Amino acid sequence: MIQDISPHRLNNHYQEQNPGESSVCFYVKNGMMLVKETAGTIAYPPASWDTAGCVYAFSLDEERYFLHLEDLDGEQATRFEEQGYTWVKPMQFRTLAPRHLAFAGITAMHIRNWYMRNRYCGCCGHATELDHRERMVRCPSCGNMVYPRISPAVIVAVTRGEEILLTKYAGRTYSKYALIAGYTEVGETAEETVAREVMEEAGLKVKNIRYYKSQPWGFSETLLLGFFCEVDGSDEIRMDEEELAVAQWVRRDEIETVQESFDDISLTNEMICLFRDGNTL
Ligand SMILES: [Zn+2]
Repeated sequence: MIQDISPHRLNNHYQEQNPGESSVCFYVKNGMMLVKETAGTIAYPPASWDTAGCVYAFSLDEERYFLHLEDLDGEQATRFEEQGYTWVKPMQFRTLAPRHLAFAGITAMHIRNWYMRNRYCGCCGHATELDHRERMVRCPSCGNMVYPRISPAVIVAVTRGEEILLTKYAGRTYSKYALIAGYTEVGETAEETVAREVMEEAGLKVKNIRYYKSQPWGFSETLLLGFFCEVDGSDEIRMDEEELAVAQWVRRDEIETVQESFDDISLTNEMICLFRDGNTL
């Protein structure tokens, strides 16, 4: 999956640091990130030309990475573009190589979005300040402290013997088969989210809910929690047509035919492949 970057290691522990000679920086403009693509691999620009306006992001192996909070515009953007740098959309990190730099890029985007949404206090509207000891912003007027937000969500593989419930989202550009998915509500356990989402999206009751694995998914600023479960009682699908375009039972040996290609980026794909290959939890 996208976070499986071993032997590389991303350490997200916050440290108050200034960029050094070899530091790397993430620059963003209009929701896109600056990268240089050479022979199918990406690189990020150096931080050394502009230490002001940068905050520490994380380390990747021995390298320190920084975030430039303001959008990069004007002369500096042009200068990078003249050096062969281009702007990529977040979803492109699904396919960019090498894997560890793509994971770094989408993780940086998640952190940067949080900083930019919290420049002003949500309680009193005063400008916030960056804390120096941990990744947190603080309001100097009312004392409100804001930490990075991660939204838990579930991915659900509902099975019926040799069949699995595959879906396609309505109104999205992602057109491959997926699994039932949804965000956890306030006051809800992840297992309750599983039962509620399957009922809402497919009209099915489920039993034997088993946790499989989690995945940080910076694309939606989410921590995904994967579950397997079995249909309980009626297997007649009543699809929510606002959420889904397709919801159908697919036999284990038909998965290869209906899903033309698989990637090893997402938890969804891993769970579909696990079932396809006859593995059960
Ligand atoms: Zn405040």
